Amino acid sequence: MANPRRTIPRTDVLLADPVLAPAVERLGRDRVKAVINRAQERARQGEIPPEAVLAAALEELAALPQGGPRRVLNATGVLLHTNLGRAPLSAAATAALTAAAGTTDVELDLATGRRGRRGRAALAALAAAVPAAEDVHVVNNNAAALVLAATALAAGREIVISRGELVEIGDGFRLPELLASTGARLREVGTTNRTSVADYSAALGPATGFVLKVHPSNYRVEGFAGTPDVAGLAPLCERAGVPLVADAGSGLLRPDPLLPAEPDAATWLKAGAGLVTASGDKLLGGPQCGLLLGRSGLVDRLRRHPLARALRVDKLTLAALEATLAGPRPPVHAALHARPADLLERARALAARLTAAGVPAEAVETDGVVGGGGAPGVRLAGAAVAVPEGLAEALRAGEPAVLGRVEHGRLLLDLRALAPADDEAVYGAVTAARER
Ligand SMILES: *Cc1c(COP(=O)(O)O)cnc(C)c1O
Repeated sequence: MANPRRTIPRTDVLLADPVLAPAVERLGRDRVKAVINRAQERARQGEIPPEAVLAAALEELAALPQGGPRRVLNATGVLLHTNLGRAPLSAAATAALTAAAGTTDVELDLATGRRGRRGRAALAALAAAVPAAEDVHVVNNNAAALVLAATALAAGREIVISRGELVEIGDGFRLPELLASTGARLREVGTTNRTSVADYSAALGPATGFVLKVHPSNYRVEGFAGTPDVAGLAPLCERAGVPLVADAGSGLLRPDPLLPAEPDAATWLKAGAGLVTASGDKLLGGPQCGLLLGRSGLVDRLRRHPLARALRVDKLTLAALEATLAGPRPPVHAALHARPADLLERARALAARLTAAGVPAEAVETDGVVGGGGAPGVRLAGAAVAVPEGLAEALRAGEPAVLGRVEHGRLLLDLRALAPADDEAVYGAVTAARER
């Protein structure tokens, strides 16, 4: 009997087979080779005939997951869902990412052929968006912006902060611990619910690095409560010659009438903040990054600090940020400002189609929230499609996955954070989930 090993096709021959070329392109040579080797081994063991090796490899390759992040439709009603990557990028920002993926002029002035300031187009777009800022800088996220400010302006010295602003942002991320990790000491003033300008004033001295105002993004103190805002603290800091740093969190650059309690960079700078920090992937609707805006002397000290190099953003982020700032308004803006009546109309249309397809569905009015550490207590009146709770798991397993929220024994698919163009995909996902 012929030795079957002899007739098993060789690895290099199989790898060169044109039918495997798309798999090599998609998954890389090493992964395809590993799959081929497994099929060859099965043939050696007599599980499959030698001539079936190529077909077995193809079958396994077709079943391999693509890898990379999976697309999730955000039907939670939480506009900025940290577990879903916060803000979805605009089409313009996504195109900019793709363009930036190659080699670019991120740090080169093509007119002169000399080195240029890194990300100057993104920095210029940010400066143009907030004329009240004398200078701007961008780092990896808002946490990095605070670390840079604390290190450059207060290492070995004191950061004066109200006890009511020693906040935890989420998932164990505590601002006081982050600041203390830089070697700055926290000088706590006032109480949890009340702090006065006099409390701050009494704490200022030669050891002061800066005064920090933190916007309590994700909670509210109600009742007998009060603390000076940026405008209330600025004159004191000015007199004492101490920088006033203000962490706005959400990344609004200008006031938004829909969120009157949410701070914005322009208002705080005009009110006298020396430096404002914010996230790029919250209400600004851009990529993850930390924005630093303020007086040129302060921004310059941060930019020149050695730590700045470790916190610098990559070319992809800079490209997406520039497109977010200078291009069309991002999806987060549209979703935040979607009108309740329009959302309800979409929910009704979707529910009617689902019902016609045999899925019990009903349009309901419901409130969404900003989320992502922003606008606590603000309810965004909107609408959802209620479907049976039992579909939740199958919807999470689908492609794209759909994440809703379970309420009173039903699964609500909230349309607040979804673009109208996503409704079709939600319909497809629900009908497919019902069949699974
Ligand atoms: C969200 C938030 C942060 C953290 O920002 P990241 O960009 O996630 O690092 C810090 N401070 C405030 C007030 C926030 O709301």
